[in-house]
Amino acid sequence: MFLIAGVSPKTTVIDNTPRRCPVCGTVRAYYKRVDHYFNLFFIPILRVKKGEPFIMCDRCSRTVNEFKEEYGSTWPDIQKTQCRHCGKTLAKDFGYCPYCGKLVARK
Ligand SMILES: [Zn+2]
Ligand SMILES: [Zn+2]
Repeated sequence: MFLIAGVSPKTTVIDNTPRRCPVCGTVRAYYKRVDHYFNLFFIPILRVKKGEPFIMCDRCSRTVNEFKEEYGSTWPDIQKTQCRHCGKTLAKDFGYCPYCGKLVARK
């Protein structure tokens, strides 16, 4: 007998509310998190690593990290705002802060 065990990633959708993707413009970006689970016989037994939340677009598969690059280099005119909860700089398009998950205040 041998054991089939291992660690594999599992994507969790944290918030089902779609957001506008700043890359392709469709409202299909969702707030997700990739956790790593320990599997035994392909059944997730326990979570070994809790992932960082991020926003990923279902259409173009861009993640929020790529959005940041996009804003920083090719879209210099994009309006930035600061999260009043954690202080990180984010594009004004985000209704929720991708870092701490709180609602971003609009001025
Ligand atoms: Zn997109
Ligand atoms: Zn924040």
